[in-house]
Amino acid sequence: MTKHIEAASPHTMNTYARLPIAMDRGQGCRVWDINGKSYLDGLGGIAVNTLGHNHPKLVPALQDQISKLIHCSNYYHVPNAEVLAKKLTELSGMTNAFFCCTGLEANEAALKLARKFGHDKGITNPQIVVYEKAFHGRSIATLSATGNPKVQKGFEPLVEGFIRVPLNDIEALKQATEGNPNVVAVFFETIQGEGGINPMRVDYLKQVRQLCDDRDWLMMIDEVQCGMGRTGKWFAHQWAGIVPDVMPLAKGLGSGMPIGAVVAGPKAANIFQPGNHGTTFGGNPLAMRAGVETIRIMEEDGLMENAAKVGAHLKAALDKALAGNAGIKDIRGQGLMLGIELTKPCGVLTERAAEAGLLLSVTADSVIRLVPPLILTEAEADEIVAILVPLIEAFLQEQG
Ligand SMILES: *Cc1c(COP(=O)(O)O)cnc(C)c1O
Repeated sequence: MTKHIEAASPHTMNTYARLPIAMDRGQGCRVWDINGKSYLDGLGGIAVNTLGHNHPKLVPALQDQISKLIHCSNYYHVPNAEVLAKKLTELSGMTNAFFCCTGLEANEAALKLARKFGHDKGITNPQIVVYEKAFHGRSIATLSATGNPKVQKGFEPLVEGFIRVPLNDIEALKQATEGNPNVVAVFFETIQGEGGINPMRVDYLKQVRQLCDDRDWLMMIDEVQCGMGRTGKWFAHQWAGIVPDVMPLAKGLGSGMPIGAVVAGPKAANIFQPGNHGTTFGGNPLAMRAGVETIRIMEEDGLMENAAKVGAHLKAALDKALAGNAGIKDIRGQGLMLGIELTKPCGVLTERAAEAGLLLSVTADSVIRLVPPLILTEAEADEIVAILVPLIEAFLQEQG
């Protein structure tokens, strides 16, 4: 008998507009629900399941770690934290890392770094430049940095000290900060995720790097969603050949284990001193093992290169299949971080795609987001197109 799922859960808080589906297990890029229906995973747990599901190299490593040590506290050294920090600094060209558990925590650490960077040089009212449509998390400080009134509504008063500017407009950035001695940092996503897959241009990234150098500001890049190989570089800003001063990471870093990190370069690596920052679960042995193994497997199996190749294949197939359709505003993104923007709100497609056996999400009301596992094959990419394109075409033909 088919198990029925209630729309609202009786005991968990009503925080998510969930689909009436409950997942049971996964394998590779496929997930099965408790009724045995299978789905192709175009969402990867929102850019989290880097290695897909039940990866044959990751699972035994995590089982091994669980049987040895899950958690021990930061009173002691965790050898794999050193291994993972070293790896992240090598991949990024930065110098030190701090570990936490989520994206918002990584961003909180970045915001604290920026404020203390200011205080250390005598700026008692430090201000941080943030962007329209940005998403940085749902703590009070990170929702204040977020550029979406829906995320902020009901939680005022917001944290102060933010200056908001539009994307990809260097003159606007210069104007908004002109003559202001309190600016300490510029904070943004290389490709905005929740905001609708909005990339920063390469030339703009270079201009901001230059401005941060000239004015002694920290360049802080939230790579929580677009980082960890998804765009075909380890970190999306590397397409511009720049190195930030502070880089929050999370989502894909542990392939599903809760983990976050803030990576810092020389300008920011020594701002925190003992007692300035910390978190109980951060950097625990299980999460660190997940991070170390995720990167090791990505390198062994060439998954960053796969993300670039299969992402380009997927984008080309979508471009071709949807070419000339007046309801398509834009198809954009890089590697396996793609957005298809329609001319009208299309949230209903999340449910229709799931019915048709495809997991995806709709963000910023009218942007279909694809952020699948980085193990996706070209055949699976073709399957995404085969399921999704007819759904989009039918939807666009409906009135209203
Ligand atoms: C998801 C996301 C966050 C928040 O991460 P959580 O783990 O949900 O706290 C922050 N920044 C970006 C760019 C994100 O995509």
